[in-house]
Amino acid sequence: MSKTYRCPVCSNEVDVAATVCSTAACRAELAFCSHCRDITTYVLVEERRGRTARNIYRCDRCQRLGVKCYTWLSGSYCNGLARAGQSVDLPLCSGCSSRVAEVSRNVIGWTLIGALGGLFKRKGG
Ligand SMILES: [Zn+2]
Ligand SMILES: [Zn+2]
Ligand SMILES: [Zn+2]
Repeated sequence: MSKTYRCPVCSNEVDVAATVCSTAACRAELAFCSHCRDITTYVLVEERRGRTARNIYRCDRCQRLGVKCYTWLSGSYCNGLARAGQSVDLPLCSGCSSRVAEVSRNVIGWTLIGALGGLFKRKGG
């Protein structure tokens, strides 16, 4: 279950939840890709403006497209890239969606999503 994740730039070990490489000389921006399930660097491929629009990023490892996880955008502790192209209001990375699925089974999942939505609105003004 425990896998060692490495920064693709400097190959040093990084935390699975790191958004920036901990190596001082590197400091690469990192994310956890939902496609290849690994820590990766990413590039912005499409900038979208608007309240609900989200920037599209490309994973440097698998070259597939992703959007920043809703949890990440709402300012919570997450570094996941959710798969782009899904027509849902809440793009969640693999980690968060499995967490939400777990919670939904206990019926309070939608309360959690509501709380996340409130968080997002407060931050966005
Ligand atoms: Zn690094
Ligand atoms: Zn990837
Ligand atoms: Zn997430």
